Amino acid sequence: QRAPQIERDGETRLVVLAGPTAVGKGTVSTYIRENYPEVCLSVSATTRAPRPGEVEGVSYYFLDDERFDSMVDAGEFLEWAVVHNKSRYGTPRPPIDDALASGRSVLLEIDIQGARQVKAAMPEAVLVFLLPPTWDELVRRLIGRGTETPEEQERRLTTAKVELAAQDEFDHRVVNSDVQAAAAEVVELMQIQKAPAQEA
Ligand code: 5GP
Repeated sequence: QRAPQIERDGETRLVVLAGPTAVGKGTVSTYIRENYPEVCLSVSATTRAPRPGEVEGVSYYFLDDERFDSMVDAGEFLEWAVVHNKSRYGTPRPPIDDALASGRSVLLEIDIQGARQVKAAMPEAVLVFLLPPTWDELVRRLIGRGTETPEEQERRLTTAKVELAAQDEFDHRVVNSDVQAAAAEVVELMQIQKAPAQEA
């Protein structure tokens, strides 16, 4: 299945990947980080505690509330939001400006409220909504990963219904049936390849 045809103008792009809980945003963005080194993947800051295996500065910058507040006050976030009614997550702005200035395309993997804020701040940003193949598959993925309590799963599924309704606000939709194919579609939207020197 081919990704939709897009114009390759060689410009760097800020692409936001969002979607409901457990749809596989993290898996797709990790796949992109490991297989497309030319993409700059933004590292978010969060006030939540690290999970086993997460690495400071790679998975997230893990901050306490005080440090997060001081970054908010200093205007250092492109966007930030409280996610799943719990912790705060934010996108540090300076690394993004630096990457775009040096000609690299940037990918943000953030929640839907964050995606809206990015679009408001940078209308040229491209918003990509990652969809599950079916609702049942989304439920299966959430329960299967076993990282949330049953109450938390319930809460996330309620949020997911609201989040799925936001897909029409997005510039593109990508169905995550297969991680490799979904990642290729997202990368295609980033226009990584430079335009050919001459087009007849
Ligand atoms: P988790 O705690 O499972 O790593 O992430 C929870 C949610 O926070 C995910 O939906 C993820 O996309 C979102 N998230 C991660 N980083 C950011 C960020 O910088 N800003 C916003 N708005 N959401 C984020």
